[in-house]
Amino acid sequence: MKKENSVFEFEGVKIKPSKSGTYNGCPFNCDVGTGYPIRKWKTEKGIKNHLKECCNTPTNVKVREEKTTAMANEEKKRIAELERKRADILKRIPQKVGDTIYHTYSHCVKPTHEWRGSRRVRVRYEAVYSYGWSEATIASIGFGAGTMIVFNENIAASAICATAEEAKKRSEEDQKEHDDWNKQCSSYR
Ligand SMILES: [Zn+2]
Repeated sequence: MKKENSVFEFEGVKIKPSKSGTYNGCPFNCDVGTGYPIRKWKTEKGIKNHLKECCNTPTNVKVREEKTTAMANEEKKRIAELERKRADILKRIPQKVGDTIYHTYSHCVKPTHEWRGSRRVRVRYEAVYSYGWSEATIASIGFGAGTMIVFNENIAASAICATAEEAKKRSEEDQKEHDDWNKQCSSYR
């Protein structure tokens, strides 16, 4: 004899089979508006399995909301912590707006790829960079990623040198290192 599907209760909702004995449509309407046909379950076990995973049951909705809230709180905590660290760093750095700073910089003079009409073609294995140094007046002190200080919105704290002489020396060293490395790279080919 075929086992009859019964009426049962799930999270306060009475779930009953249709006249033909199947359970038609999720009682929590999870497939409404999805564009897919309403699902049918032949057995009580089948629909119960679905209800365990259904995104619309009160329990699962609550679990999801709790997870979202927890994640938002984590994010808030992370941002607050970052703000605290940044404020702390700003208090401790020797530079202030209006100060003169010396810094190194680099820019690409020959990229690895160039446009030939509408095609981007690889023209060399390693890009060629030019290194230099400059003097600047601090107009703003901000942050890049995380706690990395950035002066005037584009000078990284790591590029700052104590004196003009030091900046000049460091940019020359950087240039030499880059040129040597580029030469070494091309000698392998
Ligand atoms: Zn469902």
